[in-house]
Amino acid sequence: ILQINQVSKHFVLGTSEIPVLKDVSFEIEEGSTVSIVGPSGSGKTTLLGLCAGLDQPSEGTITLNGIQLTGLNEDQLAAVRNEHVGFVFQNFQLLPTLTALENVLVPLELRGLKPNERDALALLQRVGLGHRADHYPSQLSGGEQQRVSIARAFANKPKILFADEPTGNLDAETSQSIEEMLFELNRESGTTLIIVTHDLDLAAKTQQIIPIKGGKIA
Ligand code: ATP
Repeated sequence: ILQINQVSKHFVLGTSEIPVLKDVSFEIEEGSTVSIVGPSGSGKTTLLGLCAGLDQPSEGTITLNGIQLTGLNEDQLAAVRNEHVGFVFQNFQLLPTLTALENVLVPLELRGLKPNERDALALLQRVGLGHRADHYPSQLSGGEQQRVSIARAFANKPKILFADEPTGNLDAETSQSIEEMLFELNRESGTTLIIVTHDLDLAAKTQQIIPIKGGKIA
């Protein structure tokens, strides 16, 4: 479902170029679970962003669900993301002025689809938060906010879900339940799961581990 071919990425700061990824290639099978691991600053988040169409590589090609991302403009990338991709961020990134239910509806609205509150509520129930649908993010605990963000990531039934340190800010017990939820959604919906993590126990539970060190596959 995802082909990364000889991808490099550098950032330009003033007159200097900061190389971050060098000649990275790998493939991910549809429906699989994958972790990206490596030291802090090794380029994991940058790689995830490129795979998800949040940014373009400096060199190389990325193909997601048969669509070549390289060369697409911002609007075209956004359309691919809205249709095929879900995200879960370490810091949740819920919209503070919207309720839990409204946050879950956002991806559908971005796709121009009629918001279906029944389905959104069913997703919140699936993550155990049906009774919190009308709460604002500030009225929810960190674990509850992360569960809302998982429900949101699933609202457009993505082919592929990217999670950047999804349990990084949570206690052990809550992390465990978030992890189980991600794997359950993979098993039940066949969604390909790609997780950036420092947690080697979590990585060991995925079918494929991509180790990154100094911007290269280690
Ligand atoms: P961590 O585990 O600490 O989150 P990471 O492996 O996810 O780290 P990245 O966030 O991908 O690492 O960052 C890799 C390197 O790229 C870092 O040295 C960072 O400073 C640099 N970098 C990331 N984004 C930018 C940017 N927009 N401009 C300049 N440098 C950047």
